[in-house]
Amino acid sequence: MSENMLVQEKDILKNKLKEVFGYSQFRGNQEAIICNILDKKNTFVIMPTGAGKSLCYQLPALITDGLAIVISPLIALMKNQVDQMNALGINAQFLNSTLTKSEMNRVKREGLEGSIELLYVAPESLTKEENIEFLKQTNISFVAVDEAHCISEWGHDFRPEYRRIKEIIGQLGDLPIIALTATATPKVQLDIQKNLNMEDAHIFMSSFNRTNLFYEVRQKKHAKKQLIQFMKAFQGKGGIVYCLSRKKVEEIAELLRVNGFNAAPYHAGLEASVREKNQDDFLNEDVDIIVATIAFGMGIDKPDVRFVVHYDVPKSLEGYYQETGRAGRDGLEGRCLMFYSHNDINKLEKFNKDKSVQERENTRVLLQEMSYYAESPVCRRKQLLHYFGEEFTVENCDGCDNCVHPKEQFEGKELVATAILACLQTNQRFGLNHLVQVIRGVKNDYVSSYQHDELEIFGKGLDESEDMWKSVIRQALIHEYLEKDIDNVGVLKVSEKGKDFLGAPHSVMLSKDHEYESAGDEEEDSERPPANAKAYDEKLFGMLKSLRKKIAHDKNIPPYVIFQDPSLEEMATTYPTTEQDLAQINGVGLGKVKKFGKEFLQLIIDYVDEHDIVPASEVVVKSSVNKSKMKIFIIQQIDRKIDLDEIAESKGIGFDQLLDEIEHIIYSGTKLNLDYYIDEVLDDEKQEDLYEYFLNAETDSIQTALEDEDNEDYSEEEIRLMRIKFMSEYAN
Ligand code: ADP
Ligand code: ZN
Repeated sequence: MSENMLVQEKDILKNKLKEVFGYSQFRGNQEAIICNILDKKNTFVIMPTGAGKSLCYQLPALITDGLAIVISPLIALMKNQVDQMNALGINAQFLNSTLTKSEMNRVKREGLEGSIELLYVAPESLTKEENIEFLKQTNISFVAVDEAHCISEWGHDFRPEYRRIKEIIGQLGDLPIIALTATATPKVQLDIQKNLNMEDAHIFMSSFNRTNLFYEVRQKKHAKKQLIQFMKAFQGKGGIVYCLSRKKVEEIAELLRVNGFNAAPYHAGLEASVREKNQDDFLNEDVDIIVATIAFGMGIDKPDVRFVVHYDVPKSLEGYYQETGRAGRDGLEGRCLMFYSHNDINKLEKFNKDKSVQERENTRVLLQEMSYYAESPVCRRKQLLHYFGEEFTVENCDGCDNCVHPKEQFEGKELVATAILACLQTNQRFGLNHLVQVIRGVKNDYVSSYQHDELEIFGKGLDESEDMWKSVIRQALIHEYLEKDIDNVGVLKVSEKGKDFLGAPHSVMLSKDHEYESAGDEEEDSERPPANAKAYDEKLFGMLKSLRKKIAHDKNIPPYVIFQDPSLEEMATTYPTTEQDLAQINGVGLGKVKKFGKEFLQLIIDYVDEHDIVPASEVVVKSSVNKSKMKIFIIQQIDRKIDLDEIAESKGIGFDQLLDEIEHIIYSGTKLNLDYYIDEVLDDEKQEDLYEYFLNAETDSIQTALEDEDNEDYSEEEIRLMRIKFMSEYAN
């Protein structure tokens, strides 16, 4: 093709782009991709979600003679795309099991006449004999395989029917194929090419880097509180919260609603009409937040999703990346927060019990990558891009938790060298766990059977823990001193870079993994203070302790006279930043606040500021009442205006305990009317007096109320009752 022709052809493409789709510029590789397919060459497109893959086959379909076939796995999306095409004046049709006999006949007639430009076909329809016969008689220009990663069993969305695609295309003639996917690890890429018999294909890989997204992983602890805290910054903005189960979706949607967010659930168990309405409401901004299982989002093209939260750990990094990819499509801010817990990983592994050995193993590998990602101290962006085979060399991306709050680094030169040597000496045929065993000198039958206990490297790394070695090897992978063996899952090899390193070792800075506790890393129970004492911020705790030591030293008094450890732990949990908040801490009265508070508060304020922490006091998690039997009973009895003493007696609890329960109910956001009882025990004047007190008080602390001189005539019980009335009327 002459230069001139090329220019002319490109003009045609541009004109079509404007005329049909209304866009004046191609994005990224679109034009080159389209030219490649128009040249009848096999084409492999790897492009992140939202970057504009569809146009890469839609536009050439309009230019070529004949029918372009699009194989797409989701019937629901097919209709969507076809509607969109038709709205643009393009004759696109689909062929799938939802068509009636007469619709099917019409499609086939139009196909034979040659008036259809794009024909979407579900893989299971493609394998039907009568459809193959029909397609054989049509004039086909090329075949597009959308969501091509479904071909690979190493991916996260394997569909066995996809395996037959190539064989069927073969029956239709020698047709160019364009395969497209938004998610493919190097292994999956290779698998796709092998399966479609297109190793010769030109690969168009766009950068997967989404520079406007911020990635963050937090331990799943007090997750509900953290969630609400996080979402307060996005009041009125659109976002998606993903959960793994329908039940969890309902629960979290309810939690958000109770806490004043405009949220709706979305999962496969809802009636289709409800699901559709919730989705439409979200698209039309009548609902800000969708709480969904992963079923939500495929084909959703809402540009201004400001955050994506994974409340539960996703099943794979592929899924995670696709789902987070729905944030910030307009190029503006997109926050991606994931709550991580070992328990979630264990749960997900259990789900797989009934699958075949091979499937179980594949899922396990995907899950393992998920944990590595969560626990790693390495830039999230670098890790994600590395996972999809892209190198990211920026030192600090400024767009992930690990870059913004880097973990302390240490020199890893020797460690990395040891890891590389272990890999070489075991002939690059083993995985991470085996390498760690060899390095740490673990003698077992497996190790001995390969005589790896006789290697020079055996036992060289006893000084470091198993976890440390695992972390070192994973970081050596991300830094590309080691690489995954693409043909053998789990096996690690030494890269060229790794060999060079051994020849001339240089400094490599490594960091320690995040340490997420495995115990108690569930969601919180908002009604109980954290049972696990380790819930506090250890760094802040350490700083508070040093400060206490310094003050104690200056004043020449024992540290515990200032504050005791449990009080410091609580400070390192709730981050009080005002005198009132500080006075709420157990063991800290107002007197102490005045005496010692100032320096502690300043330290916490600086700390909170530096680490972008929202103090917990600003977050009150209301839950719809915990439906424990006791609480339901109490609510029912109060509705029936039963005497409180009687309620306590019938449940065999003290009056104090009953008040505790009622306070829980009130503080979790349920209104209770106790007037019938209060009116009996307190006259109007007293009621007004106490009500007035709470209206003006700086805190709702009972202790503070009791200490107030104006309240000296009132008993604790009376104060509590009025606080309940006050909170119920004011706060709920
Ligand atoms: P993908 O399939 O890669 O997730 P889509 O094909 O759905 O992405 O495209 C995402 C959005 O980008 C769509 O709204 C599409 O109309 C738009 N788009 C595609 N190409 C262009 C372009 N060249 N200029 C402007 N918008 C485009
Ligand atoms: Zn980063």
